[in-house]
Amino acid sequence: MHELSIALSLVEMAEEQTRKQGGSQVFSVHLKLGLLSGVVKDALLFAFEAASVGTLVEGATLMIEELPVVVFCPNCQQEQTPCELFQFFCPVCATPTPEIRSGKELTLVGLEIA
Ligand SMILES: [Zn+2]
Repeated sequence: MHELSIALSLVEMAEEQTRKQGGSQVFSVHLKLGLLSGVVKDALLFAFEAASVGTLVEGATLMIEELPVVVFCPNCQQEQTPCELFQFFCPVCATPTPEIRSGKELTLVGLEIA
């Protein structure tokens, strides 16, 4: 299961950060998740809970901020959000937009620790 290995590494990173800062427990973990990351949010939440058992992260809330897909349209010369996921065309002028500026993120952005 893809999400479980991601959850395990998130827990590992969170534990490492917490130890570095001298904390003993994690209250919440903040994550940015792009809609193109291939990660299913609910599956990740479930996997996170399972992965955190017996660690400093056990009982912490995983806060996921989902990021929309942003592409760059070479015709309009600006960033656009496609109407549909995985359809990389400009919603304004229908030019193909191969340049993805945002949407693949899977980033640990912050922790609340005690
Ligand atoms: Zn355009």
